[in-house]
Amino acid sequence: MKLITNRPEFYNDLCEEIRLFLPRAEIALDAETEGDDSVITAMLSADGEFTAFAEYVCGGAVFSHTHRAPYRGGSEIVEKRYAKRAIKTAVFRALRKAFPDKLIPWGSLTGIRPTRLLRELIETEGYPEAMRLMREEFDVEESKLSLADKICRVQAPILESAGPNEFGVYVGIPFCRTRCLYCSFASQLRTKKTDMAAYLAALHRDIELGSAMAKDKGLAARSFYMGGGTPTILTAGELDALLDKVCSCYDTAGKEFTVEAGRPDTITLEKLNVMKAHGVTRVSVNPQTMCDNTLRLVGRDHTSDDIIRCFGEVRSVGFDSVNMDLIAGLPGETETEMKASLAAAEALEPDCLTVHTLAIKRASRLHERMDEYALPSVETVETMVEMGRETAEKMGMLPYYMYRQKYMAGNLENVGYSKPDSICIYNIDMMEDALSIMAHGAGAMTKCVIDGGRRIERVPNPKDIATYIEKIESTNRAREELFGQK
Ligand code: SF4
Repeated sequence: MKLITNRPEFYNDLCEEIRLFLPRAEIALDAETEGDDSVITAMLSADGEFTAFAEYVCGGAVFSHTHRAPYRGGSEIVEKRYAKRAIKTAVFRALRKAFPDKLIPWGSLTGIRPTRLLRELIETEGYPEAMRLMREEFDVEESKLSLADKICRVQAPILESAGPNEFGVYVGIPFCRTRCLYCSFASQLRTKKTDMAAYLAALHRDIELGSAMAKDKGLAARSFYMGGGTPTILTAGELDALLDKVCSCYDTAGKEFTVEAGRPDTITLEKLNVMKAHGVTRVSVNPQTMCDNTLRLVGRDHTSDDIIRCFGEVRSVGFDSVNMDLIAGLPGETETEMKASLAAAEALEPDCLTVHTLAIKRASRLHERMDEYALPSVETVETMVEMGRETAEKMGMLPYYMYRQKYMAGNLENVGYSKPDSICIYNIDMMEDALSIMAHGAGAMTKCVIDGGRRIERVPNPKDIATYIEKIESTNRAREELFGQK
């Protein structure tokens, strides 16, 4: 497909808009593409107002739309944002005419968290106008708007309670036992050859440096999250030493501390006791599905019985805040499997349930071999997501955070549900870009929220383990510079 535009700086944004309708489109900017008769033209002019014109020509059929939006003035950044919105809307609506039956529940929204946008709009335009804009300007469906609205209400007191000098701490263990079919993370397999001692020594140093810098700047951690990979891939001894390090470097007393135990094939009573002894408050056990056939198909190397065993152990150790993750849209699954997974989850009575929608990212094995798998239709995934919502509500949970990723089935969303007293502060602070995040570990991303959230800067830790180990000191210097701008 050829894209012709007078605003090439919005190429990536326009591609995202086009891929809402044509997910596998290869889009060349202004290129001479022979034998391909589909062309999108997107033009923008600013003359007292923004006028955006989009036209989609395919197989002789022409679909076009002209969108006008008021010119708001203000800074260059604000002007660019409104220009981008106008041209994206024109492209969305031209394509909407070409594909009127396509399920696009979040309308033209791409690249921004709907809750963040809604909150910003409520602050600047007031609640009724914000809701109108979401509906009429961004074409968001009523059910999704209601979801975003509910989440914003649940989040409000938690966001308001964040102190100006507070931040979240992330500790990453990018190792797993096996690689899931859909995985696109830079997670490695832990094998006999893995030099875990070298990785952990660097991680301990990383934590020492980051925590000392935070102390110097008068910053205080408000929540802790250990994720991966699979943190429980560590032995009980390694986990003990790492948690000792976190607790001695940061003030963790009485703070929310989540460990994403993740896969039951790595969880033992001994490790759970180590976590409990170090004040971990919240554990995540992530089956993704409770159907053994699917678990085998996606390479999880554990069964649904392992999950049930593991969940019982987590409770027996005394954890009263336990999350479970499920994925809607896994290969070979339909509403029947989702129903079974939700029923099994419900029987275990978790405190939080996170319902993800399968995203087929380019770095995953699934992307490479997509044609070999029976993936459920977009409509089926939509129903599965809805079933997840109904089950969560039945369990007395509220939706409390949400994010969308590229390449998600049906352009849907991932939603975290929780009982009111188990809401994960870290997830909200992180997803809403409300607080800075000090990230430790290979591939982890430190984020600094500057100027009350008007600017967000990031320092990535190298994904490659050897480079991460080698660059601990220089990465910390970059991180220090970043936090100096706060
Ligand atoms: S557990 Fe997570 S990080 Fe590990 S392979 Fe599976 S998807 Fe990737």
